[in-house]
Amino acid sequence: MIREMIDDSPPHSGARRTQRQAWSDSLIDSEISPPSGLPGGASHLECTLCGAEYTSERLRGLSDCCSRPLYARYDLAGLRGKVSRESLRSRSSDLWRYAELLPVRDPENAIRLGEGWTPNIDTPRLASRLGVRRVWVKDEGQNPTASFKARGLCLAVSRARELGVTEVALPSAGNAGSATAAYAAAAGLKAHLVMPVDTPPAIIQEARALGADIELIDGLINACAARVAEGARRFGWFDLSTLKEPYRVEGKKTMGYEVAEQLGWRLPDVIVYPTGGGTGLVGMWKAFDEMQALGWIGPHRPRMVSVQAAGCAPIVRAWEQGTDFAEPWQDAHTYASGLRVPGAVGDFLILRAIRESHGAAVAVSDAAMERWTGELGRLTGIFAAPEGAATAAAVPLLLERGVIRPDDEVLLFNTGSGLKYVR
Ligand SMILES: [Zn+2]
Repeated sequence: MIREMIDDSPPHSGARRTQRQAWSDSLIDSEISPPSGLPGGASHLECTLCGAEYTSERLRGLSDCCSRPLYARYDLAGLRGKVSRESLRSRSSDLWRYAELLPVRDPENAIRLGEGWTPNIDTPRLASRLGVRRVWVKDEGQNPTASFKARGLCLAVSRARELGVTEVALPSAGNAGSATAAYAAAAGLKAHLVMPVDTPPAIIQEARALGADIELIDGLINACAARVAEGARRFGWFDLSTLKEPYRVEGKKTMGYEVAEQLGWRLPDVIVYPTGGGTGLVGMWKAFDEMQALGWIGPHRPRMVSVQAAGCAPIVRAWEQGTDFAEPWQDAHTYASGLRVPGAVGDFLILRAIRESHGAAVAVSDAAMERWTGELGRLTGIFAAPEGAATAAAVPLLLERGVIRPDDEVLLFNTGSGLKYVR
C-alpha cells in the first residue's frame, strides 16, 4: 500500500505530491524504516563450550577451539538504560525493533521482508480442550516464506553479506531452504540448497521460484550437509547450517524478546517448542538472559519443553538418560521434515536449557501430529505445520507427567504454515 503510493507519484509533481510524500515518509518512519537508536553489532563472539573469545568482525563458522557453536555477545551493561522497554514502542513491527541486540552493524545491511513480530494468539477453546488455564499459540507461520526459519536466515544472510559473502549454501529438509532462498534473493546473493528428495514439494518449488540453485539427494540431511561442506571447500560457499555460523540463533532469539514484550514483559509458565536443530529454544534461552541484563525482565524463567518426533528423538533420549550430549539417531523417520534432524550440533545447549529451566523433552508419534493438526485447526483457526501440531500433541503427556499443571499459562510454538505440507 505504502509502496504503491510512492510509486504512483511522479517525481517533482508539485505541492500535492509533496504533501502525499510527506505523509508517506512519516508512515515509512514509523513502520518500515530501521528503528532509530544505536547501531547494532556484537562486541565479540564466544565459544559456547569453553568460553573462548573471538572477534565478531570476520566470517566464522564453528569455534576453532572446540568446533562448537559461537554465540554473539553484546555490551549489555553499556546498553542498559540506553535502550528501554518504552523506547521500543514506536519502532518497526518486525524483528529489527531489537536492532541494538542484533549483530548487523549498519542498518543499510538489514534485509527486510517483514520478518518477526508474529501474533501471540490466545486460544481459549484449545486451552479448554487441553485442560490448561491458558494457552497461547505464537504463530510463526505468518513470517515471510511462512515459517520461523525466516528469522534466523534473515540475520545470517544480512550479516554474511555485511562481511562480504556472495554465495551461501545450506542443507535443508524443510522451510530453512526456502527462507535462505528468499533472503539471498533479496540480498542479491547466490543460494545453493541441498535437499533430500522427499522434502515437501511445496518447499522445493518455493525455493526454486525464489532463484535458488537446488540439488536433490536420495538421503538424509547428514548426506546433504556433507555435500554442502564439499561445496564450501571447493567453491567457497558460505555454509549457513544451523548453529555452524553464529547469527541464525541471533534471529531466532527474537522470539524470546517478542514473547516477553507481547505478554507485557512477563514470561509464560511453560514454553513448548518443536525441536530439530533447537536453535529457537536455545536462542530464546539466550534472549531471556540478555533481557534480564538489560533490566527488561526479572529472573523468572519458563519451563522449556522440547518436543520431537517418536521416529527421531535424540534430545528426548539424551534427556531421559541424563547425558550432556545427544547420540545421533539412527534410521530417522517422520513426516514432520523439520524434526528429522538425527544429530544437532547444539545438543548440549538444548539439554542445558531444558535442565536449567526444569523443563522436559518428550516425543510424539506422527499419527498424534496428524490428529492434532486437525484439533488445533478446528479449535483455533490456525492451520499448523506438523511440527507446530506436535506441541499441542505433547500437552496431554506433559500434564500426565506433571511438567504442565492445569493452572499454568502455556505457550505453544507453531513454527510454520501447514500449507507447505499439502501434497
Ligand atoms: Zn571452545
